[in-house]
Amino acid sequence: MLNDSQLLREAALVGGAWIEAGEDGIEVRNPASGDLIGRVPNLGAEETQTAIKAAEAAQIDWAARTAKDRSAILRRWYDLMVENADNLARILTMEQGKPLAEAKGEILYGASFIEWFAEEARRVYGDVIPGHAPDKRIVVIKQPIGVVAAITPWNFPNAMITRKAGPALAAGCAMVLKPASQTPFSAIALAVLAERAGLPKGLFSVLTGSARAIGGAMTASDTVRKLTFTGSTEVGIELMRQSADTVKKLALELGGNAPFIVFDDADLDEAVEGAIISKFRNNGQTCVCANRIYVQAGVYDAFAQKLSARLASLKVGDGLDNDTVFGPLIDQNAVAKVAEHIADATGKGAQIALGGQPHSLGGTFFQPTVLTGVTQEMAVAREETFGPVAPLFKFDTDDEVVAMSNDTEFGLASYFYTRDLARAWRVGERLEYGMVGINTGLISTAEAPFGGIKSSGLGREGSRYGIEEFVEIKYLCFGGI
Ligand code: ADP
Repeated sequence: MLNDSQLLREAALVGGAWIEAGEDGIEVRNPASGDLIGRVPNLGAEETQTAIKAAEAAQIDWAARTAKDRSAILRRWYDLMVENADNLARILTMEQGKPLAEAKGEILYGASFIEWFAEEARRVYGDVIPGHAPDKRIVVIKQPIGVVAAITPWNFPNAMITRKAGPALAAGCAMVLKPASQTPFSAIALAVLAERAGLPKGLFSVLTGSARAIGGAMTASDTVRKLTFTGSTEVGIELMRQSADTVKKLALELGGNAPFIVFDDADLDEAVEGAIISKFRNNGQTCVCANRIYVQAGVYDAFAQKLSARLASLKVGDGLDNDTVFGPLIDQNAVAKVAEHIADATGKGAQIALGGQPHSLGGTFFQPTVLTGVTQEMAVAREETFGPVAPLFKFDTDDEVVAMSNDTEFGLASYFYTRDLARAWRVGERLEYGMVGINTGLISTAEAPFGGIKSSGLGREGSRYGIEEFVEIKYLCFGGI
């Protein structure tokens, strides 16, 4: 169990004060067993306004500190996350379901954003521009945007928070966060560690409760200058609409429909491994998960066979068991969507090469599934499945597969495997996506800009570009020189 019970706290942090959950709090359950983990407070608009007010006050002092000072506190927060990685991973697995090893991977990945932006805090450089008149000088400075609101999803209960809080706090902003109601304890544990690291009171609030009420108060606030959201395109559009009246800056990480292309000249074993990482990580529940796997005709059958054989050897089970590779899905809605996509595909002529059914473990466990004979007319071609289903489409030419890959409203991640360098450049440039993995199924890292185009969202997280999202550019014109 946890060796620091303080990390699993049934309370929210609002403007520097902890609010304990009562009997009427929101229940949080383990998706693997259905067991009650605990409760969190059911907060709304009023508490959100309190948090925003406290953030506004705390931000002024925070922004006035040196970048080095802010950096040191963030670095301590990072160190505490790493020291407590096992505890944080266990909390994450309990509420989210992913296997412990994967959860620990997420904690270290999440922590890496705090580390990276602790370093970047000191490199928010401005510019001096040659003047337009003999007596004038032009200077550009970058200043923190102010109070930032963040809303995060359940699939990465830790990393989706740090990827936003790291750059925001490093830049000198304050943050008011609403984590997903399925996975609030990971967010709360982060707040506990932030306090221990010495983050000033009120600078970082974690509000649990009604998404609509909290989101509504965030978007209505004049004080909140930026909203950063990761979640569904549907909710992202609604938040964008709600933010219009106060002309907020927005960062939106929304849905994807990632193509994963295997060309005839690919290293097939590598491509199978990449497909498993990209398609089945977090049991298919990530926005960069391969959703459509396009395989060139010459290697189609061999790829289908190898992929099915590898998947059949990997264990489905409770994430807390050591040898589990695939955990449960987050809830019954997720199971229904997976079943629906399989039924739609088989109804239109696809075959099941592996799985296809709810798992005998019951609950929200589902068999890893491979479908062959999949075509663009099926629902899996258009919508994100967000589950353990690998649909294999067959193609012949580069032009054909690029056209099929781009035939979607989404533009987040894409992947392809080839050993031909010229093809790698050509296809890489033609894919309409914010991110392209070439001969790899794993592209996310603190050093690189994560984000999408089209309906997949706005803005980039991570990398040196990530901190730019949390500053305003100001131009000082010096005259009379
Ligand atoms: P997912 O498909 O990942 O559950 P959602 O977009 O439904 O994506 O949820 C992502 C986050 O957005 C969660 O924290 C959820 O509580 C929040 N959310 C959902 N609906 C709203 C809304 N109307 N206003 C503000 N936040 C919302």
